[in-house]
Amino acid sequence: MSFEFECTNVVPGCEGKVSGETVEEVLGKAAEHAKETHGLAPLDEATVDKVKASIVAVS
Ligand SMILES: [Zn+2]
Repeated sequence: MSFEFECTNVVPGCEGKVSGETVEEVLGKAAEHAKETHGLAPLDEATVDKVKASIVAVS
């Protein structure tokens, strides 16, 4: 099982997508993406919550 996050759920229109073996790994990659692509760093709590809510498990 792995986890996936599509950035468009938080930043509409963004085609960024990250995946990882754990939610924590996906969160870390999402934070990196947000920083590099959107200049968002550090992520505020509301954004982290949105990201967490958008992470889906894939088999
Ligand atoms: Zn993005």
